[in-house]
Amino acid sequence: MGCDGGTIPKRHELVKGPKKVEKVDKNAELAAKWKYCALSQERLRRPIVSCDLGRLFNKDAIIEYLLDKTAERPNTETVTHIRGIKDIKELSLTDNPEWEGERRNAKGDRYEDINCGLFICPVVGLEMNGKHRFCYLQTCGCVFSERALKEVKTEICHKCGDPFKQEDIVFLNGSKEEGEKLREKMEAKRASAKTKKSKKSKEAETVSTPAVLQPDEAGPSTTSSSAEDTQSSTASGSKRSIQKMEERSEVFKSLFTTHSSAKRTKAQTSNWVTHTPYHF
Ligand SMILES: [Zn+2]
Repeated sequence: MGCDGGTIPKRHELVKGPKKVEKVDKNAELAAKWKYCALSQERLRRPIVSCDLGRLFNKDAIIEYLLDKTAERPNTETVTHIRGIKDIKELSLTDNPEWEGERRNAKGDRYEDINCGLFICPVVGLEMNGKHRFCYLQTCGCVFSERALKEVKTEICHKCGDPFKQEDIVFLNGSKEEGEKLREKMEAKRASAKTKKSKKSKEAETVSTPAVLQPDEAGPSTTSSSAEDTQSSTASGSKRSIQKMEERSEVFKSLFTTHSSAKRTKAQTSNWVTHTPYHF
């Protein structure tokens, strides 16, 4: 290289073309995404999981993160969108038979062929090394190449046969633009899940109210679908229906007696039994 024995280095030995360096780094970086956990940077090993954004992680690294999100660790920005275990999917990957781990060359130096992927596409055999696009299905977690997806048009998973829809496909380690799209999709999905949840609980409310109010005793207002109306009709309901409600709430309370009675003393228990004649 020069500089070590009075030799004078030439310019090209000291100054490397910036473009070339960038390209090598980029390739290495791309290849690394398919071999190392995006969070812990350890080599990917099963169980391997992915998220709504198509990143690859070792499951144990994610579990560790979820157990203590406040702990200081590098690469946290890769997992902040993961709220819990439901936000990750365990992947079903196909081993690359060519993969031999770190090989040794003739000199005995360890080296790694960055083009050799750990996994392959089970349909067309492409290596998952960053050169080809791969996706996973959020329904079953199976991983295969985009080429398989294009060559064999199907609505059932290539690997396990589970049905899937177009929106279940998530591309792994996609471009920045793809990542942004995936993030939008994830946020839309979460927003709709939230409204669905609140809608469900509202529905449950409106269903349970007329169930407590017996239809033969309540006025015609119960047929109204609005929750507000049924509530007002509850207030103006007959004395009998209120009595019935009380009876019902007693039944509901009794559902929990097995648990609480276990904690009672003997004297309390016998006291309790006299109040619940249906025990005899
Ligand atoms: Zn599958």
